[in-house]
Amino acid sequence: MREHRTQSEERHESRRKFLVHAAAGLSAAAALGPCSEVAADAPPVADQQPPRGRTTERRVVPPEIAPPPFAFAIHGGVGTLTKSEMTPPLEREYRAALDAALTAGYTILRGGGSGLDAVVAAIKVMEDAPLFNAGKGAVFTSAGTNELDASIMDGSNLKAGAVSTLKHIKNPIVLARLVMDESKHVMMVGDGAEAFARQQGLQFVPQKYFYTERRWRALQQIKEEERKQRKMSKSTGRLSERVADRREMFGTVGAVALDGAGNLAAGTSTGGMTNKKFGRVGDSPIIGAGTYANNRTCAVSATGDGECFIRLGVARDISAMIEYQNTPVEHAAKRVIEKVGKLGGEGGVIAVDRTGRITMTFNTEGMYRGQIGADGKKLIEIFKS
Ligand code: ASP
Repeated sequence: MREHRTQSEERHESRRKFLVHAAAGLSAAAALGPCSEVAADAPPVADQQPPRGRTTERRVVPPEIAPPPFAFAIHGGVGTLTKSEMTPPLEREYRAALDAALTAGYTILRGGGSGLDAVVAAIKVMEDAPLFNAGKGAVFTSAGTNELDASIMDGSNLKAGAVSTLKHIKNPIVLARLVMDESKHVMMVGDGAEAFARQQGLQFVPQKYFYTERRWRALQQIKEEERKQRKMSKSTGRLSERVADRREMFGTVGAVALDGAGNLAAGTSTGGMTNKKFGRVGDSPIIGAGTYANNRTCAVSATGDGECFIRLGVARDISAMIEYQNTPVEHAAKRVIEKVGKLGGEGGVIAVDRTGRITMTFNTEGMYRGQIGADGKKLIEIFKS
């Protein structure tokens, strides 16, 4: 057996430890510390978050080593609450959570870190917040369980990782990243994916961790509606189920990044749809439907009626329009969302192209969303502007 690991093996192991570390609940900035690879990427005087308690005087970055431009955007799903249902305190909560996710990604990108790390860090913040339908706040299946999906893609080499139907993984996006980095596969599901997570030393949680009153109530309401509709109609119940599902359907989270090295990355994480049955899998873990990234075109993360997004291959379609027709990213996104509407679907996408142009398009009343560039200016929005 060899005693010494090569430099690249060392780097690889430190990357794996970084991911597991981050998944264990440390903030992205804290987790960056021990990771020599990430630290080595950072410009020497780029200002990382200062430790608590110290004064926060910002060091001036000399122009010759100022970090190159980057772009970052996130979403927290479309349309769960209508404008009339949104209260000021709840809106503040959503804005604070989106702000925290944007900051997590921005801190990494500003320090010269990779788009992939920024995507994971931001999604992890949203998975840990009970507000979104991902991680902690995941919706319930028809059986009263929680089944989580996630995916990630690296635009520099078209590598991807996806996981589906997870029941005990606190941060599915971290497992998706490990599938991409540590296995030769792209997608793992259910027990197999969790066995891999165990092998990788990832954090497990009991199903009750995912319990939130709001999502449980949503399931009960939908079931009650189904019961009523079934009584009223002798039909198959398909229509009634569709009406009921609309209520608490979306809330998936996602992020897209163009990093300082010019690499694009995208990731998406979800609990799927309330009352989903029979091991249903939506678009979020499907590469090309809910997530796609290619350095030659763009990075995309989607949210909405998963079935429509799968049928249209939404994320890849946007990339293809740019690749084959040179369509500007905002036009490509708009066209695809129109197609989703024509199929009877609701939803939206966030995308960033290789020049850093960001677009956020949706056909619902709102989409929780935010963006930030190298200038540090944040834009956080919920409803149509
Ligand atoms: N697209 C997700 C799914 O179909 C739902 C969502 O966006 O919230 O599973």
